[in-house]
Amino acid sequence: MPKPSSVIKQVVSVSREEEEENEAKSKAKSLGLGYVNLKTSPIQVEVLHFLGDEISKKYRLIPYIAIGRTVRLATDVYPGNFKADLDKISQQKKISFQIVLASSSSLNHALDLLDKTKDLFLKAQPEKIIITKEQIDKSIKDLAALQTAIQQTPTTQLLELILAGALGTRASDIHLSPQKKGAVLRLRIDGALQVITVLTNEAFKGLSSRIKYLAGLNIVGKDVPQDGSFSFRYGNEDLDIRVSTLPTEYGESFVLRVLEENPKSLHLESLGFSQNVENMIREAIMHPNGLILNTGPTGSGKTTTLYAILNILNKPQKNIVTIEDPIEYKLSGVEQIPVSAKVNFANGLRSILRHDPDIIMIGEIRDKETADIAVQASLTGHLVLSTLHTNNAAGAFVRFVDLDIQPFLLVGNVLLVIAQRLVRKICPYCRARVKVNEDKKVFYKKYFRVGSVPDELVYGQGCVYCHGTGFLGRTVVAEAIKPSDELNRLLQAKPNTQEIQVAAIKNGMKPMVLDGWDKVLAGITTAEEVIEKTSF
Ligand SMILES: [Zn+2]
Repeated sequence: MPKPSSVIKQVVSVSREEEEENEAKSKAKSLGLGYVNLKTSPIQVEVLHFLGDEISKKYRLIPYIAIGRTVRLATDVYPGNFKADLDKISQQKKISFQIVLASSSSLNHALDLLDKTKDLFLKAQPEKIIITKEQIDKSIKDLAALQTAIQQTPTTQLLELILAGALGTRASDIHLSPQKKGAVLRLRIDGALQVITVLTNEAFKGLSSRIKYLAGLNIVGKDVPQDGSFSFRYGNEDLDIRVSTLPTEYGESFVLRVLEENPKSLHLESLGFSQNVENMIREAIMHPNGLILNTGPTGSGKTTTLYAILNILNKPQKNIVTIEDPIEYKLSGVEQIPVSAKVNFANGLRSILRHDPDIIMIGEIRDKETADIAVQASLTGHLVLSTLHTNNAAGAFVRFVDLDIQPFLLVGNVLLVIAQRLVRKICPYCRARVKVNEDKKVFYKKYFRVGSVPDELVYGQGCVYCHGTGFLGRTVVAEAIKPSDELNRLLQAKPNTQEIQVAAIKNGMKPMVLDGWDKVLAGITTAEEVIEKTSF
């Protein structure tokens, strides 16, 4: 039982509080402003630090809720001295503000909250996120361990854990997709998305705010897609994470891509090309000018191959410029220009040419204008590398003609056309020979156009190393056309893809599916994997 005097104190303080709120309310009314009680109405923690704590404290201004592109700011000092500073922020972040009056005690409560939540948002700012190899070794080398670790980790350390998990499992992308309840965390490993766990709404909220903060994204803008990046330290290297957000039905989804700086994986000989194709590439890139094209659908590794080529060509005496959408790897010593709202492939390319480069890499040729400039550049003393969305190498010639490029401009100018796919490699820890049934033999003979199929082929059985998938890592299956005199003659007649394909095979090209079949026979990948990745 409380003593009578303390009950009285409580009653007095409650009524004083009420009185203060009433005063604030009527002051707001007389000023024509809104009123808020920050002790009782919901505060969006992710908006709280929007102005920067220094400005919030200086002017007693608390951002507490964002609606669309408007942020409501509560204050108990009105009119304050804040107009100039707010105008600046409003312009920079393309946000409008709405001032709302609050009582001094409710504002003090929010200022307290500002300090209490500071760690979550600001801790990572001055110091870089650091991830050590020990962290990864300790617990997160497999997906089950990562899942357990995530469930036991406080929200403030979730990002570090997920990044370490992505490195530990060799993931290329981290996907966070909000659903009705919680958000699904998936990692892309060897090209396939694997579900790790479902994060609670609360954990996802903290995590997404932290990612946006680090990546320099607008914390408030949830209605537009945004792109940004941040870097963290792993061992002795700095790794970049590219962040893109997309508004979805249940909130913003995130894709984080791990970018390595000068990655060691970018060696032509380690990508998995057959010796024949690799030799053709090495020969083609010796030329001072001409066009080298790599074709394939999205995710076929064609840009990675071009990077590996640039890695070989990257010498101090060579001026290399790239225009990319987006930049997928950072190469030191290479000037890399991202495509943006102002810079597209065509106009970016024009300004690049004024910088007198020796070697140009164009992320992709999609339109006539870009194709024109690329061909002109390759005819005027530049080595031009680019990619095209075609199904096979022969298709590249037809695509150029479709883009209104005169065939005679291609003759002698196209040095090499590569087509490639990425297939998953059979896991070395659980590989085993498996009997091939008759139905499959018939199908393989037809698809790969081979005379015979062995009685047994190698398959992965699934183990801890490959997360039960039977696959570990990826390799390339490819074909390459170095235009022959015959093909050059044929080009003048605007041939179709099939005619070019026939001419190329006659001239010694090994089609991609056969390159794949070689890798099936060698126990590197499976027939099903090659069929799935080459049948489009
Ligand atoms: Zn395995």
